Amino acid sequence: MKLPTTLNINGYIYKIKYTDDMRTVSDDGEKCFGYIDSYNKEITVYKDGHEMQTILHEVFHALSEILHLKCFDGKKGHKELDILSSAVMDFLIRNNIVKL
Ligand SMILES: [Zn+2]
Repeated sequence: MKLPTTLNINGYIYKIKYTDDMRTVSDDGEKCFGYIDSYNKEITVYKDGHEMQTILHEVFHALSEILHLKCFDGKKGHKELDILSSAVMDFLIRNNIVKL
């Protein structure tokens, strides 16, 4: 599958970058598979074979910020964002909308 280098997320163009370096960006020092820079409209994705899953996760972060959603705030909200992005990815694959 060809991975995107730009995405239009609710009217905003985000640049998608891919890296072999897993960045440590969370407050508690956890390694992250993806990182979103909302100010510069950039999403960085770790190349691990699950890039689309990570991109979808970061798209939910972008939508949450753009739409001023509060439901994904905090650690519990982030976990639910991750579960939702996994479920949506599963839906896209099962219905042949996304092919891996
Ligand atoms: Zn996240």
